[in-house]
Amino acid sequence: MSGLPPGIECDVPLSRFTTIGTGGPAAFLGQPTEEAALIAMLAWAERTAQPIAVIGLGSNLLPADAGFPGLVLRLEGQLARIEVGPAGAVLGGGASLAAAVRKVGDAGLAGFEFACAIPGTMGGAVRMNAGAYGREIVDVLVTATICSAAGARTVEAADLGLTYRHSDLAPGEIVTAAELALTPADPAAIRELVREYQGRRTAAQPRKARTFGSVFKNPGGERTSGQLLEACGLKGYRVGGACISEKHANFIENVDHATSADVVALMTEARRRVKEQFGIELHHEVQTLGEIHIPAV
Ligand SMILES: Cc1cc2nc3c(=O)[nH]c(=O)nc-3n(C[C@H](O)[C@H](O)[C@H](O)COP(=O)(O)OP(=O)(O)OC[C@H]3O[C@@H](n4cnc5c(N)ncnc54)[C@H](O)[C@@H]3O)c2cc1C
Repeated sequence: MSGLPPGIECDVPLSRFTTIGTGGPAAFLGQPTEEAALIAMLAWAERTAQPIAVIGLGSNLLPADAGFPGLVLRLEGQLARIEVGPAGAVLGGGASLAAAVRKVGDAGLAGFEFACAIPGTMGGAVRMNAGAYGREIVDVLVTATICSAAGARTVEAADLGLTYRHSDLAPGEIVTAAELALTPADPAAIRELVREYQGRRTAAQPRKARTFGSVFKNPGGERTSGQLLEACGLKGYRVGGACISEKHANFIENVDHATSADVVALMTEARRRVKEQFGIELHHEVQTLGEIHIPAV
């Protein structure tokens, strides 16, 4: 296509950018390194009527095997910065949480340790109100900068509708920065807490396998999704190259060249069995990209 803004590539496999390793090509992939470039790409997409999607580290993402017929954006450079201040930090939407946890911890700022368990970016974490160990992004977020083709605006955390693994952000709204409020503390104590959290994760979840984290949200009530799925005998259940983890039943592993269709088939059967056995309808936490249909049960 003529008139492509600089930095946009065509026909790029999304499987490269997801932790589960499935997904077809994005018609266009833009990796802007600053806000002006991002806005130019968004304006181009609007002019040419391309649908827009944004991805972070693809750690909670299932793209369609047919790919995405529009512009997929990944934030880099300035849009992935980590700036630490005396009582908090400003992170670009593309900043990796793992790097941010290390940097704020070394600077003696506590309150963000929980994010060591979440292998995504700041933008993805705001969209998902990601959380672990009893804390969520909403507990530390002060403001978020949000970009769309219309430009950038800063929004208070309280106005983002952040609840359990949910925000009110619309699909075309891109988090380009987030301001966090943190508390001064001893860096050694922060490092110790991070080590403890990481140890707990390694014991409970598959760590080396290709997954996208929790498949389903917890339904509330006494049992977690993982416990319900395990009680249905689903550990080890396999469709094509995708398999429900033997270590934690709310994880799906790509064990052998899985497709997104394999994953959807597993999710559909898992939901069906939980509904049949417990009368509970599970809702998926994983986000989809492109034409993916996860049938209701
Ligand atoms: C091993 C493992 C463990 C995990 N543990 C946890 C956990 O403990 N707690 C938890 O909450 N999650 C967990 N996750 C899931 C995942 O890491 C989080 O949901 C994370 O917040 C997703 O961030 P991401 O950058 O990878 O987003 P992606 O997966 O790339 O995208 C997820 C959603 O966010 C949107 N998005 C991405 N970037 C932006 C942006 N800049 N602006 C607006 N929207 C954006 C995407 O469009 C998509 O809708 C885990 C995943 C794995 C693989």
